[in-house]
Amino acid sequence: MKLPSFDYACPATIAEAVALLAAHRGEAKPIAGGQSLVPMLAFRLAAPTLLVDLRKLSELRQITITDAGITLGAMVRWRDILQDPRLRQAHPLLVAAVEHIAHYQIRNRGTVGGSLAHADPAAELPGIAVTCEADIVAHGSAKSRVVAAGDFFRGALMTVLRPDEIVTEIRFRAWPRQRRYGFREFARRRGDFALAAAAVTFEQPEQKFRNVRIGAIGVADRAIRLAAAERVLEGREVTDVAIAESAAAASAATDPADDIHASGAYRKTLIGVMVERALRDAVGRTIV
Ligand SMILES: Cc1cc2nc3c(=O)[nH]c(=O)nc-3n(C[C@H](O)[C@H](O)[C@H](O)COP(=O)(O)OP(=O)(O)OC[C@H]3O[C@@H](n4cnc5c(N)ncnc54)[C@H](O)[C@@H]3O)c2cc1C
Repeated sequence: MKLPSFDYACPATIAEAVALLAAHRGEAKPIAGGQSLVPMLAFRLAAPTLLVDLRKLSELRQITITDAGITLGAMVRWRDILQDPRLRQAHPLLVAAVEHIAHYQIRNRGTVGGSLAHADPAAELPGIAVTCEADIVAHGSAKSRVVAAGDFFRGALMTVLRPDEIVTEIRFRAWPRQRRYGFREFARRRGDFALAAAAVTFEQPEQKFRNVRIGAIGVADRAIRLAAAERVLEGREVTDVAIAESAAAASAATDPADDIHASGAYRKTLIGVMVERALRDAVGRTIV
């Protein structure tokens, strides 16, 4: 389908980009990789009068890794993450999740900022951001602000972003060497959005679960933490029984809706299976 007509701007600075958004009072939208926005335009789910292209903002393309953590600029693409060997050590869970995103062509264009702002409940990056308690930086015409990922997503395709704000970066805390992780996703075909996915991290000193984080993707109107499933494990011996109980708690804590892809009951069962498999992967991982 043809796109609706719109004006186009390609600013060279962040200040210029947010000024354009502010001047159009909610009628303008940023465009990054276009992998979600262009289909939205084609289906008339969005009809901005102006597209503000972020592609010239090279300062948003940085991947920075320090002792404090990792910062991904909003215009970092999936492909940039997968091709940066440092990230496999610096945040292996992030890389494991990004490997499930879409197909080659889409990974060449889709961006970190676009995924966060689009806020698809089945998207991987919002799930990792919520599970790992990342911070998202938004820059508006008045000032910039830092929003915890857990507060950033408001529902399906909804965030706390104001019309004149762009996401500039996401910050993850440093990954402790002893941290274990697992990421399991089930989709109908490789590259499709998840029917359900689980992200887990914890440490395992003296065969006990510590600092457990369990996140779920695709089973609610946004990515969620499964606190009840985390509590089942915290401080407990690493055993099959503990893992199975945590998986059961994960399933019990979710109430997914039916949709054209799967029934809610199916996703509810599936998330328990994903959590159990992700926990087993993490327990079995060799830490060097
Ligand atoms: C066939 C197909 C399969 C896909 N499968 C997956 C998948 O499995 N997992 C997954 O996570 N994604 C998937 N995607 C989506 C893909 O990852 C997108 O790239 C991503 O969701 C949006 O990134 P983008 O850079 O293309 O954003 P765009 O499409 O350019 O923008 C998306 C939205 O974000 C806004 N926006 C963009 N950048 C910013 C910014 N910096 N600040 C504020 N607002 C901004 C836009 O205004 C728009 O509302 C798929 C897409 C397609 C077409």
